[in-house]
Amino acid sequence: MVDDGSPAPPSTGHPLRVAIVGAGPAGIYAADALTRQSDVPVAIDLLDRLPTPFGLVRHGIAPDHPKMRAIRDTLHRSLDDPLVRFVGNVEIGTDLSLAELRAHVDAVVYTYGAALDRRLGIEGEDLPGSLAATDVVAWYTGHPDADRARVESALTGVRSAVVVGVGNVALDVGRILARTAAELEPTDMPQHVIDALAAAPVEEVTVLGRRGPAQATFTTQELRELGELAAATVLVDPADLELDPDTEARAATDRNATRNLAVLREWSAHTPAAGRTRLRLRFYARPVRLLGTDRVTGVEVERTAVDGDGRAVGTGEFEVIPADLVVRSVGYLGTPLPGLPVDQRSGTVPHDGIGRVLRDGRPSTGEYAAGWIKRGPSGVVGHNKHDARETVAGLLADAADGSLRVHGERDDLVRTLQARGAEPVLLEDWRAIDAAEQELGATRGRARTTLHEREALMAAVRAATAR
Ligand code: NAP
Repeated sequence: MVDDGSPAPPSTGHPLRVAIVGAGPAGIYAADALTRQSDVPVAIDLLDRLPTPFGLVRHGIAPDHPKMRAIRDTLHRSLDDPLVRFVGNVEIGTDLSLAELRAHVDAVVYTYGAALDRRLGIEGEDLPGSLAATDVVAWYTGHPDADRARVESALTGVRSAVVVGVGNVALDVGRILARTAAELEPTDMPQHVIDALAAAPVEEVTVLGRRGPAQATFTTQELRELGELAAATVLVDPADLELDPDTEARAATDRNATRNLAVLREWSAHTPAAGRTRLRLRFYARPVRLLGTDRVTGVEVERTAVDGDGRAVGTGEFEVIPADLVVRSVGYLGTPLPGLPVDQRSGTVPHDGIGRVLRDGRPSTGEYAAGWIKRGPSGVVGHNKHDARETVAGLLADAADGSLRVHGERDDLVRTLQARGAEPVLLEDWRAIDAAEQELGATRGRARTTLHEREALMAAVRAATAR
C-alpha cells in the first residue's frame, strides 16, 4: 500500500504524479492528453525554466504572425485544468537536480525542446555580425536570455544581410528584416526590437539555399507571404528554376515542392524597384567562409549541383556575396539536461520509438520524452499533439500494466523549491505577467508588448502578490 510507503497502482487518493519538463506546445499537449483520460488518476506539474508558458509559441513563432501565435489561447485551456499545476521559473539542473525531481514524482516527461543552434563549421562563423537564427529569434520575441547587445550591435547600420538556409525559420528572419517599421508596429515585440529594426537601413536580404528550389524545406504559405510585404520585392534568378527532367519529375510528386516552384516561377519575372528592399532567394550556393576581420563583410559561397541522391555537391566555382550581417538558420539542436542522455549528433533523447527514454539501451522506468527533444526540430506546432499523445499512451500503458506505480508520500515540489529560496511562478503569477504585458501594450495602442527581462517579469508577479 502507498500508506506504508510501498509502490502501488495509481488511485484517486494517490494519483500518479507526473512532472512535465518544458511548458511549450509538446509539454502542454502532453498535459492535455493526461487530463483527457480517466483510466489513470494523475496530478501534473508542468515546469518551465522561464516564468512564462508556451515555449516556441511565445519565443519562436514570429511576432508578425499573430494568427499563429493565437494558438496560445487554445493551449491556455490545458493550463487552466485543475489537474495541471504550472510551475515556471524553475530550472532543472540548477534549482533542482534531475534526481531530486525524480524523487518528488512518479514519472517525468521531457518536453524541453531544442534550444541550441546548429553550426555551419566554417571559417569566420564567430565574427561579429554573424548571428545564429536562434539568437535573432530570441531577441525579436523578447526572450529573457537573448543577447541584446550582440544582436543590436550586429544590426547597426546593416544594408545587406545574408540568411543561410531555406527553411521556415530562415523565411521568418528574412521577412522580419525586410519589414517596415509600420508593419512591425502592431506586433507584441518589445519596443527596443521595433526601434532597432526600424533603424537598420536594410536594402537587400539574400536567403541562401545550398540545394535547389525543389529541395527547399520552407512551406508554400510561408513562402507566399514574402510576396505580400509592404516595401520589399522578392527576386529569384530564373536560371535557378531550370530543373533537369528527373528533378522536375520528383518535384511533381511532392505537393509542397510543386507549389513552391509555381510561386518562385511567378516571382522570377520581378525586377528590383527603387526604394524597395530586395529580398533575394538564391539557390545552389553553399557558404564556405565568412569574410571580414573586425566584422563580417561577406559570404564566400561555392556554386553547387544536386546529385542523384539529392545532396549538394560543389562545382569548384566560388563567388562572394557582400554582407554586413549573416544569420545562420540551419536548424536547431537539443541539449542534454544534467543527468539525461542526449545523442550529440541528432540532439535528441534516445527513446523506444514511442517516447520511453532509454538509458544504456533499456527503457528507464518513469522517464518519457515528447516534442523536438524526442523527434528532432521539425514540424509545426500541431505535430506535437500527435507526438505527445503517443508518448502519453506509452506512459498510461506502463501504469496499466503495473510497471509505473505511485510511490509513497513525497514532498511537494513547490514547497521544496520555495524552501530553498527559488521563486516558482504559478498560474496566478503568470496571469499577473499576462495582464502586465497587455497593460504595457495598451500604452501604445497594441494588444500586448512582451516583457523581455526576467526582472520585469518577476516584478509583475511581485506587484500582484503585494496587492
Ligand atoms: P529546416 O526546415 O530543417 O531548415 C534548415 C535549413 O538549413 C535547410 O534549408 C537546410 O538545407 C539548411 N542547412 C542545414 N545545414 C546547412 C549547411 N551546412 N549549409 C547550408 N545550409 C544548411 O529547419 P528550420 O527552418 O530551423 O525550422 C525548424 C522547424 O520549424 C521546421 O519544421 C519548420 O517548418 C518549423 N517552422 C515552421 C514555421 C511556420 O510554420 N511558419 C516557422 C518556423 C519554423 P538542406 O535541406 O540542404 O539540409
